[in-house]
Amino acid sequence: MRKLIPPRNIFLSILHAPSSGIRIPRRFQSTSPPIVTTKALPGLPSAHLFRDVPSLRQFRNSLAHSTADAPKRTVGLVPTMGALHAGHLSLIRLAAANVSDVFVSIYVNPTQFGVTEDLSSYPRTWDSDIAQLASLDAELAASKALGRITAIFAPTTQVMYPTLPPTSEIDGHGSFVTVTPLATKLEGKSRPVFFRGVATVCMKLFNIVQPDSVYFGQKDVQQTVVLRRMIQDFHLPIAFRIGPTMRESDGLAMSSRNVYLGKRRRTAALALSEALELGEMFFANGLQSREDIQLSAMTYLEEKRKAQEALAPGKRALFKIDYISLADPDSLEEIDEVDPARGAVLSGAIIMQPLEEQSQNEELGMGGDTGPVRLIDNIILPAQK
Ligand code: AMP
Repeated sequence: MRKLIPPRNIFLSILHAPSSGIRIPRRFQSTSPPIVTTKALPGLPSAHLFRDVPSLRQFRNSLAHSTADAPKRTVGLVPTMGALHAGHLSLIRLAAANVSDVFVSIYVNPTQFGVTEDLSSYPRTWDSDIAQLASLDAELAASKALGRITAIFAPTTQVMYPTLPPTSEIDGHGSFVTVTPLATKLEGKSRPVFFRGVATVCMKLFNIVQPDSVYFGQKDVQQTVVLRRMIQDFHLPIAFRIGPTMRESDGLAMSSRNVYLGKRRRTAALALSEALELGEMFFANGLQSREDIQLSAMTYLEEKRKAQEALAPGKRALFKIDYISLADPDSLEEIDEVDPARGAVLSGAIIMQPLEEQSQNEELGMGGDTGPVRLIDNIILPAQK
């Protein structure tokens, strides 16, 4: 069978601080959580903010026991890195439909960023996050959802990594959770410390919060596979729930990193979701081979990439293709044929390149489109019932 394997590209997402000449629109300006231990938040009457473990534990324990007039409460955790958007909010809604108390964590975890990745410039938008949570909580109250947002956990790095400074070095020291070989596939090829960091921080959060259930987005499909495996392998008494990928109206998967895309790069970035949709369409029409699904998606994406390359520097938005994968949903091994009993995951990653030339009055993203941006997306090809 003819296989088209993209050259693996080791380009990592380095986002440069905006140069001094670029004005940062207000919506991109960063804000941080206040330095308090526990406090009611404006607009969130039933929520407390926790910044360390003992106070959060005390609150969590208070929910664990039923009293004469109140039944035992259930806790669902939605881990996030902040810069909230409708994708995060959909997970909180899902949690509120299942539990009485939704805990949202907001923490940009350093150990999942590689040494050259965008940790320092990752968007931190505390004020906007709290405003979105407040309006969602009001919606939950009005809709008589089972649950409300009752805790926001925004720990410091000293709290999350109490003994050794966190490291992004592959051979750095620390207490880590590794889930191999899952963590080495797809995203893990270009981002070798990523899933070690994700699994480690999630294990910490799960131990701190002791949730009954946790909520993750389909958008980060490999993350769901790695964490589901971690929960299974470590016998964690936690229900693992996945919410669907929220998309912009044109199909672009929502992501905190989309703020880095000005209009030109954002438009070109649609090639990824379109390529995956094409593969999905072939699958929906009964085709199951790698050639028909993965190769079609890859060829489409490659054509879109070349079309950008053919444009003048002032008009184009170049991108590199990291991979298009057709893989088994549990092992993430590449497959030649979709097994109808198992279904498959069609996923991909591209790296939007910095704009080479900007035109006057061009609509730019945060950072002025000066740094590369890694984008991922996926579509589940469902098993036949
Ligand atoms: P992050 O803040 O990027 O770490 O994401 C926190 C959670 O939100 C993860 O479980 C993500 O998978 C989920 N998430 C991010 N983007 C989306 C999206 N577009 N739709 C649904 N869930 C999402």
